[in-house]
Formats: sequence, C-alpha cells, structure tokens
Amino acid sequence: MIQIKKVDGFGKLFMPTQQKSPGVRSLESAEEFFETRLEAIGFIFHGTVTEAKGKGGSGRSPTNLLHFARCAKLEKVGENETKIWFRSVRVALKHLDELIGHHRWKWCKICEREITQRILDEN
Ligand SMILES: [Zn+2]
Repeated sequence: MIQIKKVDGFGKLFMPTQQKSPGVRSLESAEEFFETRLEAIGFIFHGTVTEAKGKGGSGRSPTNLLHFARCAKLEKVGENETKIWFRSVRVALKHLDELIGHHRWKWCKICEREITQRILDEN
C-alpha cells in the first residue's frame, strides 16, 4: 500500500469546472448514436434520466443500463431514451452516480461479464 499525502489545494488540480469533460458526450440524434456504435469505442449508457418529466408515470423502475459501445443489445434501445457516451469506465461510473444515483443504474448483463473480467485483469 502506498500512502498518498493530501496536499493543500488538491481539488484545484483536476476537474476544470468551466469546460465540459471530453470523456462524456450526449448522443442526441439517431445518427450520432449509430456512429458511436460503429466506432465501438468506449461505453454507452441509455435510460431515463429525468424524473420530473413523468409522462404517464407508469414505469416505476426504468431501465438504466450501461453497455460497451459495441454491445449488440444497444440495437433495441428506444428512441426516446437518453443516451450518453463515455470514454472510459471511470468517467461513466462517476458521471452516472452523479446524474442518476449510485444504485439507479446497472450494467447490461452481457457487458457486465466482460467488464468484470477486464477489471480483474487490470488488477
Ligand atoms: Zn450490453
């Protein structure tokens, strides 16, 4: 274990708050979504992020899922769902926890197997 000392002003060193993080991109059109899937780089989240809108409010538990960008399941994502692309898992986890909450989204079952393996390999 390496002990890292907390330095004064540590928080200022990262997170340039003024500019948008380049590791996150909202996929607003079908084309963007399609192209991102073609590139197959990074990760794609889809789901229902806004609660306030509540059209009808029938879906108590919306499916908020995170996938590898190349996952075949992404083909079935509804047009009205929010889609967000992330460059890395780390960015995705942080962003999703802030955006929708820690336990309000899941990994896609297929992708989860792969990501678990990858995390194990990295350690
Ligand atoms: Zn998947």
